[in-house]
Amino acid sequence: MKINSSVYDTVVIGGGPAGIAAAMHLGFHQRRVLVIDRKTSPMQFANTPIHNYPGVKPLVAPTEILQKMRKELREYDVETLFGNVIRITGQAPNFHVAIKSAQEALTTVTAKTLVLATGIARKHPKVDGDWKKWLPFAGKNRMSYYCPDCDSPQAAGKDVIIVNAGTANSALHVARCIKPFATRIRIFMTEDAYAPYTKNSETILNKSEFEWTHGLVKKINILEPGKRQQLITADGQTLECNIFFVAWIAVPRNELAIELGVELDGHGNIITDFKGATNIKGVWAAGDVRPITQTVATAVGTGVYTGIMIAHYLISLA
Ligand SMILES: Cc1cc2nc3c(=O)[nH]c(=O)nc-3n(C[C@H](O)[C@H](O)[C@H](O)COP(=O)(O)OP(=O)(O)OC[C@H]3O[C@@H](n4cnc5c(N)ncnc54)[C@H](O)[C@@H]3O)c2cc1C
Repeated sequence: MKINSSVYDTVVIGGGPAGIAAAMHLGFHQRRVLVIDRKTSPMQFANTPIHNYPGVKPLVAPTEILQKMRKELREYDVETLFGNVIRITGQAPNFHVAIKSAQEALTTVTAKTLVLATGIARKHPKVDGDWKKWLPFAGKNRMSYYCPDCDSPQAAGKDVIIVNAGTANSALHVARCIKPFATRIRIFMTEDAYAPYTKNSETILNKSEFEWTHGLVKKINILEPGKRQQLITADGQTLECNIFFVAWIAVPRNELAIELGVELDGHGNIITDFKGATNIKGVWAAGDVRPITQTVATAVGTGVYTGIMIAHYLISLA
């Protein structure tokens, strides 16, 4: 979309549920808002239905929810630009946001306020040494689940393999969440995970009540999605199950926050007050990039609240 205004009341960086919710409230209050998104939200690629999002039944794919949210934004005259924010300079009420669009064109816009709704990156397991080879199975066709808070009941009556790309404790957390539902749970510790597989991992897992093993994933075979799936190890074993759960590592997308001097917690998440305001005047944050449970409902909730608080702040500036 063409940029209509060079001075916005608010520029929202990140067009996932959190950024859209913040922008929607501000658009509803007739503020001039631009959402910039580089299209890497899970809502963009996952097609296993979204669970635990109130009011959406029958369950629909996240892509459908995202499309509806984007359509509503247009109805409130909020502009959206698909591109990458590469730099932010200045201070309230004159932030300069540099954007590289898909066509590599560089644009700079000015904003009185900012919302950082940049989400998190998830470290996927590797298949044959390459995490991109896991992507065809990531959140697709009810084959693999990522969120024990959203999806544990999907393990009901199922034989589950937890494919671990994180620490032993993250695998155990997933296992304990799905335990009331699953008929069998096995943890597969990937040896090329981002959190190194160590002797300590073995000690922790041996003390647990769960079956576990370790190795490298060579191949994934989906014989019948959500019913018969196989994990083939590098040493030639075939582990068969009904579904995979992924225990992963979250990496908050905080580069812009760091540049702005925004305060982070020990995991790299953006710290805000209860209103969503950061320590930098005029900069708010919403959604997964904050230290919250990563669900669509919490992303939308923090986004709306942030939008309301910015609307009040803009009134106070007038
Ligand atoms: C496979 C999978 C299944 C899930 N299932 C469920 C479920 O069933 N129920 C549920 O409630 N939750 C589910 N979730 C979690 C849910 O998708 C997230 O909690 C939610 O999307 C977070 O919203 P957000 O807006 O904070 O971040 P995101 O949705 O991650 O959006 C952030 C956006 O910011 C953009 N961005 C980042 N940096 C920049 C930049 N510099 N310039 C421009 N754009 C930028 C990214 O491209 C991205 O589009 C699932 C997640 C996964 C991975």
